Amino acid sequence: MGNCLFSQGGDDLSLLNDSEGGSLPGEPPPPYQHTPTVPVFHPTPGESRLANQLTEEEQIRIAQRIGLIQHLPKGIFDPGSDASEKKVKECVICMMDFEYGDPIRFLPCLHIYHLDCIDPWLMRSFTCPSCMEPVDAALLSTYETN
Ligand SMILES: [Zn+2]
Ligand SMILES: [Zn+2]
Repeated sequence: MGNCLFSQGGDDLSLLNDSEGGSLPGEPPPPYQHTPTVPVFHPTPGESRLANQLTEEEQIRIAQRIGLIQHLPKGIFDPGSDASEKKVKECVICMMDFEYGDPIRFLPCLHIYHLDCIDPWLMRSFTCPSCMEPVDAALLSTYETN
């Protein structure tokens, strides 16, 4: 009985001393396997950068241009609705075929483009990329007739 108690106490002391050898002070930190949170930036090319460089006059002109672009009719590409007519099936800006449900923009010259393709294009050049017809002139004339 008494022997058990004594021997146990002695073992405890020796165990405590031995267990200290677990972590070595000179051990190098583990190599970076994966960085925990990498901030991913998605800078929209053109927009954030240009906003600082534009003069107030240019910003007004761009705002007017955006207003004109917003007045252009837009819709959803539906190949079935106008199958008889030989319609444009490809967006010449991104060279991709239109797919059903794609948001598209109709220009006054009856050419159509992806909404996401033609809007930035019109911000740079207010002409149809296919026929080079000035979009604003056609748009303004339709305003006056209406
Ligand atoms: Zn496109
Ligand atoms: Zn056109």
